[in-house]
Amino acid sequence: MLESQNWIKTENVSDADLIILNTCAVRAKATDKVYSALGRIRRAKKESALLGIVGCVARESGSDAFRRIPELNFVLGPQSYHKLPEIIKNPETKLLNIDLGGLEKFDELPQMTKSPTVAYIPIQEGCNHCCTYCIVPYTRGRELSRPFDDIIQDTINAAKTGAIEICFLGQNVNGYKYTDETGNLYKLSDLIRETAKLPEIHRIRFTSSYPTEMTDDLIEMFGIEPKLLPFLNMPIQSGSPRILKMMNRPDNLDNYKNIVKKLKSVRPDIQISSDFIVGFPDETDEDFEQTLNIAKKIKYINSYSFKYSPRPHTAAAMMSNQISEQIKTVRLQRLDSQLNENQREFNTSCIGQEMMCLCEGLDKTGRHLVFRTPYMQQCIVEKPNTKIPPLQKIKITDANKASLRGELIK
Ligand code: SF4
Repeated sequence: MLESQNWIKTENVSDADLIILNTCAVRAKATDKVYSALGRIRRAKKESALLGIVGCVARESGSDAFRRIPELNFVLGPQSYHKLPEIIKNPETKLLNIDLGGLEKFDELPQMTKSPTVAYIPIQEGCNHCCTYCIVPYTRGRELSRPFDDIIQDTINAAKTGAIEICFLGQNVNGYKYTDETGNLYKLSDLIRETAKLPEIHRIRFTSSYPTEMTDDLIEMFGIEPKLLPFLNMPIQSGSPRILKMMNRPDNLDNYKNIVKKLKSVRPDIQISSDFIVGFPDETDEDFEQTLNIAKKIKYINSYSFKYSPRPHTAAAMMSNQISEQIKTVRLQRLDSQLNENQREFNTSCIGQEMMCLCEGLDKTGRHLVFRTPYMQQCIVEKPNTKIPPLQKIKITDANKASLRGELIK
């Protein structure tokens, strides 16, 4: 959008005429970082440069952001990015736009003229699940799904302009549901089926999924659509039904395990990743042991683990029995060590296998190419002398907990 108005990128803050911080409010640490970055930027920027924040911290802070950082020119919530051209035209006015509007921004944002090999396509925003620790329903509002045809148009455009992989995005991506004017209902499985017809697209994935929205039609797609990668992020957050209840998350672990079982039966090579929160209010040692057990049992790979941090406007922030930082730190270390062990085990099991991998570019040394396997592992390969297509068959030759080594199959 800005490029179409002849703005060009600079790497140097002191050269910039416009500085925008795109922000995330999901954890307290991320929010704190926004304000310390703003403090650094306001000292380094040209006096005339416009400065703004967009995204969830903007939505959460509202007008308080202007009080904390008087140099700010605009504060735009996640549904208002498309207002940028208007703001740039009127640099004198301070603009606060944190309304939870609809999805109009997608109609206003121009189509990309060049896509990266992995195109991230938002299909829905917001979330109707009110997990008691989560700020997303407050910053992003209720769930809204984009029209099916608009999304397919975006995937066609991405395919025609260089994308090889499509990653569908949404806070509750598998909750995607869109009914058109004639009453036809479209779900995520329909988007996958339609996207897989594009010859340019070889890999499809989606994130982030809610366990109970893994409906049978979607599970079946893993069995019938080879372009859908055998890798799924399906956060469990905790292995304790008591804590899951307090989190207002699905607390029937048998149902969760049953979904994993069904996925494995249609796609035996599928791997599951999860997000975990340790140190949720009132979490006992016993609750935490249940989390460790499930991490071990399901053998999650590529997972994310965090210490619980109280977020404004959430029920969990008001709960008694908040856990001390010290206990959270110990629990996080123990969980991370289990998750690392899972990863090391899985990576080692890949040695000797041949996999189609997608090139991400050169590593820092410039002597190796970095690829992504179908399970999102990083695989390092010696750079060949000739130019190669981005999708390559690679034989895995070595592994550690962080990455794989491989060689191109001629
Ligand atoms: S499902 Fe995810 S986005 Fe929605 S409230 Fe829960 S944690 Fe937040």
